[in-house]
Amino acid sequence: MFHLDNEFITDLLNAHPSMKDRSPDSIGMTLCQICSHAIHQPLLDLTTSADELHKTSVQCDLCRLLLKAIGERLPKEMRTGPLRIRRKASKIIVQRGPHSYRLLTIRKIPGKEALDVHIIGLRRLTFEWTETTQCKTPNDVQVGVPSLCKIDDPEYSQLLLAWLRDCDAKHTECRKNFGSSGTKARQYPARLIAIEESLIRLVDTKDIDDSGTEPLKYLALSYTWGDKAVHKRYFTTTDTYEQHCTTIPKASLPKLFVDALTITQNLGIKYLWIDALCIKQGKGGDWETEAERMHATFSAAYCVLAASRCAGTNDRFLVKRPQHPSALFRDHGLAFSEDIDDFQLEVIEGTMNRRGWVLQERALARRTIYFAEKQTYWECGQGIRCETLTKMTK
Ligand SMILES: [Zn+2]
Ligand SMILES: [Zn+2]
Repeated sequence: MFHLDNEFITDLLNAHPSMKDRSPDSIGMTLCQICSHAIHQPLLDLTTSADELHKTSVQCDLCRLLLKAIGERLPKEMRTGPLRIRRKASKIIVQRGPHSYRLLTIRKIPGKEALDVHIIGLRRLTFEWTETTQCKTPNDVQVGVPSLCKIDDPEYSQLLLAWLRDCDAKHTECRKNFGSSGTKARQYPARLIAIEESLIRLVDTKDIDDSGTEPLKYLALSYTWGDKAVHKRYFTTTDTYEQHCTTIPKASLPKLFVDALTITQNLGIKYLWIDALCIKQGKGGDWETEAERMHATFSAAYCVLAASRCAGTNDRFLVKRPQHPSALFRDHGLAFSEDIDDFQLEVIEGTMNRRGWVLQERALARRTIYFAEKQTYWECGQGIRCETLTKMTK
């Protein structure tokens, strides 16, 4: 189920106005006659066929996107005959018999009007938008930027932070059990990785002073080890424990851990939990007891980072994502792009979740950020948010 989430983007754009500049300027997108008629209809309803789209896609950017999506999304036998393509809220779908297939995502481009509207204190963005733009744009379309930002842009961390803060501020249910008094001994893992500027080291949680008003905030990393023989090199053992309490050299860590440390730092969190480093392994270690309370470790974490796209610790998750094609029609205030909102395929059935334990971690976490192949997802008790700003419930 997809939901409109325009209040979130309004707040986000208000806090970070530079984000709206990400929508590229009009680069001469053209529409065929059928599409330019359809785009003016609030419901955008058109009947065409793959053959027809082949012809019109020569001159029409929207037809080209539709044709590509049909080729990728529809089973071959479904591609012949007339195709009824229509808009369902922020998605363009095609109906074939009892099935509907999602083809494209549609976004209202944030523009000057939207910001002006917000500044003068009106919150009902979608209504005001319609009145201030020339053409009629439908009210039930998500406002958003058609392209994702670069993963090392400050904007990227700002979005992750906005997800966290929105949940902190508005979801009482998600806060339940977090930081209630007397939970320290029971819930916190024995050790955490402390990040102090460039110094990374292990600390005992019993030595952390969390008597202030804020409960101890740490992130926990959910990932797949990959080749165990390789992964073993990164373990904290009884031999390396003392050294790791003084410093853990970043250069000695696998790429996946370095990415997790980067995100933790960018989110302004001081502590991170990674099983390989925070549990003392081998003879004389505490794997048995710490593994036993791993469920508590994940459920007491402020947030879980899930390296969904990684098959092992030598993979990275802060990598360039594939570009997804978009067509931007500035005159209409609309952008169409490939539909990449697929939490089921990318996360649930993705590379990392083929390991049973990871599914448990998902169930235990109060909230999780998933770094997937095509985009980043947020999940908490109130649903799933995509980096494309699509909001879904299960
Ligand atoms: Zn067209
Ligand atoms: Zn929440």
